[in-house]
Amino acid sequence: MQEHLTVYDVCVIGGGINGVGIAADAAGRGLSVFLCEKDDLASHTSSASSKLIHGGLRYLEHKEFRLVREALLEREILLVKAPHIIRPLRFIMPHQPHLRPAWLIRTGLFFYDHLGKRERLAGSSHVKFQAENSPLKNEIMQGFEYSDCAVDDSRLVILNALQAKEKGAKIITRSYCRAVTQENGIWRVEIENAKGCYTIQAKVLVNATGAWVTQFLKNTAQVASEYAIRMIQGSHIIVPKMYPEDKAFIMQNDDQRIVFAIPYLNKFTLIGTTDREYQADPNHVEITQHEIDYLLDVCNDHFKKQLTQADILYTFSGVRALCNDDSDQASTVTRDYTLTLNHDVDQAPLLSVFGGKITTYRKLAESALEKIQPFFKDVGKKWTEKAVLPGAENLHSVDALVEQILVRIKAVQLETAVRWAHAYGTRIWKILENISHVQALGQDFGYGLYAQEVDYLVEHEWAISSEDILKRRTKLYLEFDTEQVQILDAYLLALHERRLQKDVA
Ligand SMILES: Cc1cc2nc3c(=O)[nH]c(=O)nc-3n(C[C@H](O)[C@H](O)[C@H](O)COP(=O)(O)OP(=O)(O)OC[C@H]3O[C@@H](n4cnc5c(N)ncnc54)[C@H](O)[C@@H]3O)c2cc1C
Repeated sequence: MQEHLTVYDVCVIGGGINGVGIAADAAGRGLSVFLCEKDDLASHTSSASSKLIHGGLRYLEHKEFRLVREALLEREILLVKAPHIIRPLRFIMPHQPHLRPAWLIRTGLFFYDHLGKRERLAGSSHVKFQAENSPLKNEIMQGFEYSDCAVDDSRLVILNALQAKEKGAKIITRSYCRAVTQENGIWRVEIENAKGCYTIQAKVLVNATGAWVTQFLKNTAQVASEYAIRMIQGSHIIVPKMYPEDKAFIMQNDDQRIVFAIPYLNKFTLIGTTDREYQADPNHVEITQHEIDYLLDVCNDHFKKQLTQADILYTFSGVRALCNDDSDQASTVTRDYTLTLNHDVDQAPLLSVFGGKITTYRKLAESALEKIQPFFKDVGKKWTEKAVLPGAENLHSVDALVEQILVRIKAVQLETAVRWAHAYGTRIWKILENISHVQALGQDFGYGLYAQEVDYLVEHEWAISSEDILKRRTKLYLEFDTEQVQILDAYLLALHERRLQKDVA
């Protein structure tokens, strides 16, 4: 086993949104940071979300005012930090009086409008639907409208990882932390990857392993966990675009739950989610037939267009690892986060993250840093609120960036320019350096994916497999057929072999 003698200030286990958020924040304060992720970045819960940056209207019902206020404030901050991957979205809530009374919804929306600072997003309003224009069933004649935001969840993770790297952090994927021990108040962290095992050392260990948080504490760190988690599965289905409006619908079901229909990647509608207790392996979470039927039923109760299973193009599923608060129902377990610090005298500190939302990852990271900074001298101050994420530097408008790409890159398709502008923001010029025509972008894999972009993703964004590229970095996974994926796989294999030979030489 190799020994890496560097002693990092912080070692983060887990490359979901919470792990990379903490790594970026810590690195930006001048701490030396190492992060390991056993699979790809964002390959678990952080890419299986409903892709919303939202206050969580429904959490008001459970009196989670702290969480809602923090999340509402974060919407505005994140919109400025990453306007290429986060956009405002209006939500329509059809009103059916037998579910929640109008006064209750109006009160909820009043709080939602006023609980946090709201500068960029429009407030709520009452709406009437005209039967001939509305995608909703004719008997649904009125409702409410309010604002939240949509996010490319996995790119939010990648951009935070990039920011961490640019601040000096070492980010390693496909590397499993299999054991941690302490020696003289320093953590020894054993990492296993395809090439073998090695050990790194760190002063503080951060357990941001999501659904594995208690397992990591118990089996890997051999520390008793202060809290238990409840794994709550949530699933989504993707169908062809159901309606032309660029708005989401929030449907109230008679079990008091809500389901969203959200415009997705211009051509699709994303429908979810469910809340189901989960006890199996979080590595392999799959939608159940019961969840499929549930989501189809809620949609069919609201929309004129009736969906069947045959309309489903894709499904995905993930688990929320929520701090167990003994709620009776899966849907009412708190979505707030809890941080615990294990630190006995002469022992190295171990911080663990329980729960959380994508929306509040930045605040969670700040709280994590507050807890660990007493262990260091000269730690920098909070900085992430005002700092933009990679690609948002000098980004005045995504539409203007699309125009610039169209002017500079001859023969580029509009759809590709739009995708690039949203995925990479102004970092697109790094990919397109010295390029003025699509022909110079190398092998064409289809749907505007060329070798130049693939090489960039492998070189700078930790992409290894075609799934990393199509699902989590470009979102072209709904377009590619099996043969096109095989061609991309073959290219990646050859690329990795070339890189390996270069390393050996
Ligand atoms: C269905 C659903 C919908 C949601 N919708 C929203 C939404 O719209 N908006 C919102 O704000 N939030 C939403 N959430 C919540 C949000 O997705 C999660 O809170 C967030 O993604 C959790 O991130 P994480 O980093 O804690 O966990 P993860 O993303 O799961 O990351 C943990 C990582 O740790 C790695 N790991 C574990 N053990 C080890 C080890 N020993 N060594 C190395 N790596 C290890 C795992 O591989 C994993 O990648 C939703 C959640 C679900 C399930």
